[in-house]
Amino acid sequence: MMAERNTIMLIVNGTLLTSAGGRLATWPGWLAIEGDRIAAVGTGDAPAEWQTRAERTIDARHMAVLPGLTNAHTHLEQTFMRGLADDRPLLRWLKEVIWPLQAAMTPEDMYLAARLGLVENLRCGATRVIQHHKLPGREHVAATCRAAAEVGLRMTLARGWIDLGPTGEPLDTILSDLDWLDGLLHSPACKPQAKISLASGPLAPWRCSDDAMRQVTAWARDRGVPTHIHVAEAQDEVEMMLARCGKRHIEWLAGLDCLGTDTQLVHAVHVTDAELDLITQSGALVVHCPTSNMYLASGAAPVRKMLDRGIPVALGTDGPGSNNSQDLLECAKIAALLAKQATGDAQALLPADVIHMMVGFAPGASDAPAGVSGALMAGAPADITIVNLNNVRCQPVYSAASALVYNACGTDVHTVIVAGEILVDAGQVTVLDEAGLIEQCRLAAAALMKRAGIQCD
Ligand SMILES: [Zn+2]
Repeated sequence: MMAERNTIMLIVNGTLLTSAGGRLATWPGWLAIEGDRIAAVGTGDAPAEWQTRAERTIDARHMAVLPGLTNAHTHLEQTFMRGLADDRPLLRWLKEVIWPLQAAMTPEDMYLAARLGLVENLRCGATRVIQHHKLPGREHVAATCRAAAEVGLRMTLARGWIDLGPTGEPLDTILSDLDWLDGLLHSPACKPQAKISLASGPLAPWRCSDDAMRQVTAWARDRGVPTHIHVAEAQDEVEMMLARCGKRHIEWLAGLDCLGTDTQLVHAVHVTDAELDLITQSGALVVHCPTSNMYLASGAAPVRKMLDRGIPVALGTDGPGSNNSQDLLECAKIAALLAKQATGDAQALLPADVIHMMVGFAPGASDAPAGVSGALMAGAPADITIVNLNNVRCQPVYSAASALVYNACGTDVHTVIVAGEILVDAGQVTVLDEAGLIEQCRLAAAALMKRAGIQCD
């Protein structure tokens, strides 16, 4: 049997931009892809050899060529809920709209909402998303995995769970469902799901018992699975934990020995300096969601302090219910502006810092060789985002990094490549009928609102 030949693709004339090890580098150059990996990278014009061998050449003149962006926190089920609960603080937003609507969603609703949200992520340049999945039913989880496999980007599915409150699940159910999902994602029959990985997703400290947190984290650590958890998003959540156990969120996690390099802390807005020290010592990652934090009036995470302590920080949009888009480039600008506003320091976050937050981490990545996240280098997975800066929004460009953070937005994304496959090609989604999907989602969302008894204008 003949071995399958890898397709060779060449990207030329672009401004290549990497953030390996936190150091931003840009240069005019070219990049060759062979199969699902970057084969070669260079400065100036591509060598004749690569030009001859390439079956497809993308002209990236006046464009930025980046490692694929990671949207490190979202809730795809909320794609059907954006704009429904605007202008409320976190707990009212959850109780009045988000929780009742989640309860009314069928697996088919979940599938369509996930497809729509994933296509939006893709169009906005994300090659990887972390989906904090709030609908625990196996059919809903399987529907989300099916949507991700069809859309083709990489997804970490953090299986959401709580064991306290009226919707809490028994610990046995949480553990057996995690076992089931772990088996599903490792099954040889699930070939398209090779881009999907698993995380444990406790929703928030105040919704999880000490015992469940300890036991589920032990389960995750046995299998090398990370833990992805909302922490200290709003001040009233912190007060609830202080009333329950006398500990703030990070103190509680550290006290249970559930804080480590395998922990992804989403938000971390209301954290003390002592808690920042605990995060630093643990090696945990923080996922910063500035747009959502502003939207729900939650506050400003102390990102500069985190970076100064060496805490790794990734960037997330959060769910469409509290953003309301999935535009990571928009979040990048908001991250920089919020940090300046919150600290009174115009240099609190620079474009290089924010770009690193988008490309420097691939939490949950199982296929990236160690140390190459954020780099465009031979051997790295061929996950590439190309952003067109040749438009009235961005020109003239004196610094590609500045233009990316302060000018560009999701609609400027030109091409998105995941594992060597072009999923967005010159602004067109290649993997599905986008207009048909939008119409299907419009109808399904209207039916969902009717079922849930929600009147829309
Ligand atoms: Zn969230």
